Amino acid sequence: MANPSSPIREEIRSIAPYNAGLTLEEVRAKYKVDDIAKLGSNENPLGPSPTLRRLFPDIGELARLYPDPQGRALCTRLAADFGVEDNQVILGNGSEDLIAVICRSVVRPGDTVVTLYPSFPLHEDYTTLMGGKVERISVTAELTVDMDALLDAVSRKPRMLMFSNPMNPVGCWLTPAQLSSVVAALHPETLIVVDEAYAEYAAGEDYPNAVEMLRDSGRNWVVLRTFSKAFGLAGLRIGYGIVSDGSLCDFLNRARTPFNTNAIAQASAVTALDDADHLKRSIELALDERERMKATLDALGYRTAPSKCNFLFVDMRTGATQVAEALLRRGVIVKPWKQPGFESFIRVSIGSRAENDHFLGALKDIGTAG
Ligand SMILES: *Cc1c(COP(=O)(O)O)cnc(C)c1O
Repeated sequence: MANPSSPIREEIRSIAPYNAGLTLEEVRAKYKVDDIAKLGSNENPLGPSPTLRRLFPDIGELARLYPDPQGRALCTRLAADFGVEDNQVILGNGSEDLIAVICRSVVRPGDTVVTLYPSFPLHEDYTTLMGGKVERISVTAELTVDMDALLDAVSRKPRMLMFSNPMNPVGCWLTPAQLSSVVAALHPETLIVVDEAYAEYAAGEDYPNAVEMLRDSGRNWVVLRTFSKAFGLAGLRIGYGIVSDGSLCDFLNRARTPFNTNAIAQASAVTALDDADHLKRSIELALDERERMKATLDALGYRTAPSKCNFLFVDMRTGATQVAEALLRRGVIVKPWKQPGFESFIRVSIGSRAENDHFLGALKDIGTAG
């Protein structure tokens, strides 16, 4: 079995977990009292400005008190959904926060971190920030995952393997068989981090259930998820990680700020999990519109990468920055990709039908304008 303290830097091992005091819920449950004076955290008895209460009628107590530093209600819910223990869930101020937390905890100067390329830049940036070396596994000419190169890199025992599945910005993905071969090739001292920001869109037969696959692998692993994409809460900043082992999770918790997720975000995330219909509608809209967009782009002669996400990676066959600029003049925001080798690509999100038509109309307009 993998030793959960082995990926962790000495500096983190020497830090004690933050002592945040008790929440009202904990005191109620443990001491069976209802009338509680919460005087341990220097909070303001008046709470926030009345203006805020008019904007959000229920915001008072959520805004006044420090949030539960573990976000227990949310963690318990997620643990049940994933079939893991509560102490295997870590919350982040967006999953980007957790990418930073993991890199801070794990990457020593000179360490190698393997990632897929073109990549979500933060996987590379936080590695670089910690003095690590990024090894990029570039996609194939068909814009799919280069499994031979990935397995070869994994066999060289990197400190960490961190990539998004499906891949952002490309949209391609590792199938269950492919992820399984990666897991089998992992050295026990390599931490694997699978960033599943788009898992809700990708779910289906040819997309792996990473938690299930990793659970009995004997490896150290983290699966990252977010409420920013399919759950529609990007502005609230909340994401989470499912971690192989409670003690590895405990180490990672020491490397985050104690109150990294706010009370409104925690409560909203629980509400979002309860609304399965809204999630289903969001996914259906994205998948239907993605196929419509892809068909239209194909018909216009643009090459798109295979995508299981709520975006398409489209080759403009010319400088993407200029195309993005021309789209902006027509009121459309897309992301021109700037990493070497992919400067002719834009990443366009799947929006509402009207927004997508706006994009397609503007693109045709630019095409005819030459
Ligand atoms: C959007 C995205 C994130 C960031 O999500 P937040 O939870 O909003 O921080 C992380 N990873 C990938 C691959 C993403 O595309």
